[in-house]
Amino acid sequence: MLRRSQIDELRTAVGADGLITGNNQLQTYECDALTNFRIMPDAVVLPRTAGQTQAVVRLCARDKIPFVSRGAGTGLSGGALPAAGGIVISLARMNRILDVDLANRQVVVEPGVINAHVTQRVAARGYFYAPDPSSQSVCTIGGNVAENAGGAHCLKYGFTTTHVLALDVVLPSGELMQLGAPTLDAPGYDLAGVFVGSEGTLGVATKIALRIVKRPEVVQTLLAAFDSIQVAGQTVSDVIASPMLPSAMEIMDELSIQAAEAAVHAHYPACKALLLVELDGPCSEVEELMRAVKELCRNNGASEIRVAQSEQERALVWKGRKAAFAAMGRISPNYIVQDGVIPRTALPLLLDEIERLATAAGLRVANVFHAGDGNLHPLVLYDRAVAGQEEKAVELSYRILRLCVDHGGSITGEHGVGREKQEALGYMFAEPDLATMQLVRCAFDPENIANPDKVFPRPRLCAEKPGPYTPHPLETAGIAEIF
Ligand SMILES: Cc1cc2nc3c(=O)[nH]c(=O)nc-3n(C[C@H](O)[C@H](O)[C@H](O)COP(=O)(O)OP(=O)(O)OC[C@H]3O[C@@H](n4cnc5c(N)ncnc54)[C@H](O)[C@@H]3O)c2cc1C
Repeated sequence: MLRRSQIDELRTAVGADGLITGNNQLQTYECDALTNFRIMPDAVVLPRTAGQTQAVVRLCARDKIPFVSRGAGTGLSGGALPAAGGIVISLARMNRILDVDLANRQVVVEPGVINAHVTQRVAARGYFYAPDPSSQSVCTIGGNVAENAGGAHCLKYGFTTTHVLALDVVLPSGELMQLGAPTLDAPGYDLAGVFVGSEGTLGVATKIALRIVKRPEVVQTLLAAFDSIQVAGQTVSDVIASPMLPSAMEIMDELSIQAAEAAVHAHYPACKALLLVELDGPCSEVEELMRAVKELCRNNGASEIRVAQSEQERALVWKGRKAAFAAMGRISPNYIVQDGVIPRTALPLLLDEIERLATAAGLRVANVFHAGDGNLHPLVLYDRAVAGQEEKAVELSYRILRLCVDHGGSITGEHGVGREKQEALGYMFAEPDLATMQLVRCAFDPENIANPDKVFPRPRLCAEKPGPYTPHPLETAGIAEIF
């Protein structure tokens, strides 16, 4: 519990309008988009500058107050879940685009800038910011950096880490440090690379230099309808094995199609599985490759093949895909969004296995995912009002993750480990790997105050200090048996 004097110091640091301590307002910050984990913070601060952020973190460092950075709170692994007895640092007010440098293809932003606003700022000049999470209309660049966010077009353009050139970071000691450099090939360790994907455990990003990309001459989007998700998965493997790299390849199954249709009326064909393939580049190249994609789809028995005929039609296709997670609320009272990766060649096999596990658990699983990356997003549907169903859903979602690891994949493609998958991380990595990662964390944050109790399996603290921690019942649901 924060002392009165500490609250006063926080107020001095960020101003009276930058501090929240009232219970009603604090509730907004008690979870991220993984809503079944909730912890009320003692206070929330909303700094407007790096200097104010530094003042807050210095106070946390002096008094060993745990802090959790927060962007838009759209994270799906509990990364922005507050620490008990700690504060949340919301970067929402640090939302200015500081510099647009087209000659060097760079944009410098504060962490609270919304992802889609970067592209909006440079689109008229023929550029775009490539990482495009489905949440891009609300999530922040700071959150994207912390999670190494992906999106449909990361298949060709790379994840957030490919697009971050440099960062200003307030370290957990309160010092301000620059990581990376806006020029190519900076000497020394790639600390910007270490920070991207570190889930708020190494400090607070306060300024980020991003790489932007020139728009291709043409973009074409194909929809292919299949009778089974396994065949759609096989078609993805076939495209990847051919000499072309689409900018995006996504699959939606029947449940996802139904939910997305109900939400945005995207005019998708009614089918068991829909494959979206987007190609971009010079006009003649795209036309030739599109012919090859159509042929692969036909060879695999696609019942309908359609190419979006206008920019509006293309935008609607993507609107439906990007709305699919949120649209699940239309067909199920509750759902867990899982995030795992598998080798693309294992897609048909794993989709079969997921179906088998779901049937055994008596639950429905919808699949909508970045198929080109092998990045699955099984959505486990359940009803919290039915006794025991939430625990069953959590267990099924962990079983799916285990399946991914057992087939040479990973427990997360883009949503991070956060609070949700700490035990699963221990299943994926051997003890020396975890110990080495922990050394990196402790080098940045020896007092374990930056987003503590996240990412690593517990107990695992710097200098073996025991930390207060009571597991949430859902965290333990079936985990011991699975991992
Ligand atoms: C409907 C929906 C669709 C989604 N689709 C995708 C998708 O396609 N691809 C994808 O990758 N993700 C997706 N996500 C997940 C989520 O949007 C991303 O993880 C996103 O990057 C989180 O950004 P945020 O601003 O909401 O961060 P938050 O949720 O607020 O925080 C996420 C993590 O970042 C840390 N953090 C935030 N700001 C900073 C900072 N300035 N410095 C240091 N650490 C910081 C937090 O401590 C936390 O650990 C989706 C989520 C939803 C709800």
